[in-house]
Amino acid sequence: MADTGMLLNPAGQYASGRHAQRVLEDAREQVAELLGADRAEVIFTASGTESDNLAVQGLAYGAKKSRGPAARRIHAATTEHPAIVETVDWLCSDLMGGGAPQFDHSEMPVDEKGRVRVSELPELEASVDAVMTCMWANNETGNLQPVADLAGRAAAAGVPFHVDAVQAVGHLPVDFHALGSSTLAASAHKFGGPKSMGILLARRDAVLVSPLRGGGQERGVRSGTANPQGAAGTAAALAAAVSEMEEERRRLSVFRKKVLSVVGAIPQSQIYTDPSGGALPGHVHVAFPGAEGDSLIMLLDVAGVDASTGSACSAGVNRASHVLTGMGVPVEVARGALRLTFGTATTADDVDRLCSLLPGVVDQARAAGMAS
Ligand code: PLP
Repeated sequence: MADTGMLLNPAGQYASGRHAQRVLEDAREQVAELLGADRAEVIFTASGTESDNLAVQGLAYGAKKSRGPAARRIHAATTEHPAIVETVDWLCSDLMGGGAPQFDHSEMPVDEKGRVRVSELPELEASVDAVMTCMWANNETGNLQPVADLAGRAAAAGVPFHVDAVQAVGHLPVDFHALGSSTLAASAHKFGGPKSMGILLARRDAVLVSPLRGGGQERGVRSGTANPQGAAGTAAALAAAVSEMEEERRRLSVFRKKVLSVVGAIPQSQIYTDPSGGALPGHVHVAFPGAEGDSLIMLLDVAGVDASTGSACSAGVNRASHVLTGMGVPVEVARGALRLTFGTATTADDVDRLCSLLPGVVDQARAAGMAS
């Protein structure tokens, strides 16, 4: 990793500024190589959320600019991460008053595992479809989406396609050019990199009208002084994650299998993670009807196990997971949801301990009953 001790503004026209610029550009080159993109396609941002916003808003307004006001349909499933759901809702709301939103939301249908039902999608048309967006892997269930299929359809129709790959990058092989999407979002803290560092890959021919105005850094998409230290840390973490990916996948798959077999033996348990159809190896999303999700995580917390009821990104908000309800799970069942994730710090002993605790924790939570 480059010496990033005293990096100044990479836009500075002095020696230390030029050094900072070199560090930033080396990181860009490394990220591009690791993700199958060109150097010019790599834009550093401050989070996965920011990358998603820049892409979906940028492509939506880019569609208006290049294809006219009739390009107003945005295709997205309700099971997306809030970084997408909230952005699409905002674009499709009546922002200026007067009853005339600029975009319409076309909800992408999903099956009971949360995967987009590709055969039920409407025919895409460049004149009316502004943008389609889909996550590569769901942050709650870990289930993979048919993003390559969707990318092919979007490209054939000339409709821009954004992939939220925040959960995938560093955990699955990602080749941006082979995938063929217009843009792709990633987040460094998801693959062991620094917090508040994101990546947006954007094809050169993607028409992106950035909602960020300013000094025009990062191809004019992400104005603001760049962060060379963060970029270098992001590149180094991605390189490490990619080199350990296969071994880590095998290790975590064993953990997942073990936990799923313990869950499967608990009466009435529901399993939403679907390894047979393709899923991230470190995710287990399940539900125990009759138990309150909050009771499950509190009991596990007391035993020293960190878990959540749903999206960790919106933890603290006590409500049924929008991902599970979007998959058709009844609210009373979704309230008993438990999401467990394993990563590089998880050991076989941790998993054994969890497996021995879980049946008793579910019994206790069920005995405590549901909050009214
Ligand atoms: N998209 C997905 C699928 C995520 O899982 C997350 C965060 O967990 C985000 C977007 C947001 O990323 P960040 O936390 O970097 O803003």
